[in-house]
Amino acid sequence: MSGPHTDHHVHFLAAVAARLSIDVSAAGRVEDLLAAIEVGAPARGWVRAWGYEEWRLAGGRTPTASDLERALPGRPVVLHHRTGHAAVLSPAALVEVGATEHADGLLVDRHDILSRVPRLDPSSMQAAAARLSAEWEAAGVGAFTDATHTNGAAELDLLARWSAAGVIRQAVTAMVGPGDLASLPGHGAPVGSVRVGAVKLMPAAGRLGELRPQVADAHRSGFPVAIHVVEVDVLAAALDAFAASGPPPGCRDRIEHNALSLPEQVDSIAASGAVVVVNPSFLVRRRGKYQAQLTGVERGWLIRMASLVRAGVELRAGSDAPVAPSVPAEMTAAARAHPFSAAESLDEAGARRLLSPLDDA
Ligand SMILES: [Zn+2]
Repeated sequence: MSGPHTDHHVHFLAAVAARLSIDVSAAGRVEDLLAAIEVGAPARGWVRAWGYEEWRLAGGRTPTASDLERALPGRPVVLHHRTGHAAVLSPAALVEVGATEHADGLLVDRHDILSRVPRLDPSSMQAAAARLSAEWEAAGVGAFTDATHTNGAAELDLLARWSAAGVIRQAVTAMVGPGDLASLPGHGAPVGSVRVGAVKLMPAAGRLGELRPQVADAHRSGFPVAIHVVEVDVLAAALDAFAASGPPPGCRDRIEHNALSLPEQVDSIAASGAVVVVNPSFLVRRRGKYQAQLTGVERGWLIRMASLVRAGVELRAGSDAPVAPSVPAEMTAAARAHPFSAAESLDEAGARRLLSPLDDA
């Protein structure tokens, strides 16, 4: 299919890091995953692996610190979940980052601890970034929005340097975390050739009440927000926060993923004026997970597309790379053939529109 297209939701640095890690995403059992780590481990130093998902592993089991110890005794190993939201560390790795209280090795959304893992070598990262960006270009991706909630001045500078050097060949918009807005130029402003995007918010389970003030704070600072929404209760909290505080003039807030939404939430999403960014590739790549974990009724609420467009929502799509590859043809094919709800499939023009630019991304 012709390009260039915009991938509206990626994690570029995580995709680069995944390329430099042992890929365990094909493993169907913990033992296979451990064997892949053993074979792929470098002779010395940290061992990085990426791509496990408990639902793909027999018994739905999450690997543990003692599993990693069994595979590579005494070595510091970090095993990243495919989504980036969790990691498992070996006992030696837990010692090195000062997190031995997490005896099973599992860290969920603990970027504060994982940031103590030694950085990858900058020249390897740059070479991997160049290869990744060239692959995306060949697939027809001409622009992307990086939706990483830990982005700050340092990450935007790195993306800008890579863009200036021709390492990244796409036009880049980068969202930013809510913590450090004062050290950044405003929304829509350039950092080199990178455009500063929305403030990315990751609502914490059990702390949805914090969303309203976080959204209002970002709006007061002149930024629209993009909220990570997977469950219906998070969607309800996001819509509540949008009703209480509107984005700055000329901008729209965003709902990322919108995995599940109730029929009665469709009109409220449209009324909020927020852009919704879905991940159609998940319908194919995570079909087994949805089949195993959702009821038939819930699968009908999964990754709505046509009902949102009909209600007047501005709908876009992203790959969530590295969770799924940034391949426009895969995203549009999935959008045209919703496996659980044919009524949510889009026609060809609707699917193409998912990857068209947003003027206020
Ligand atoms: Zn994401």
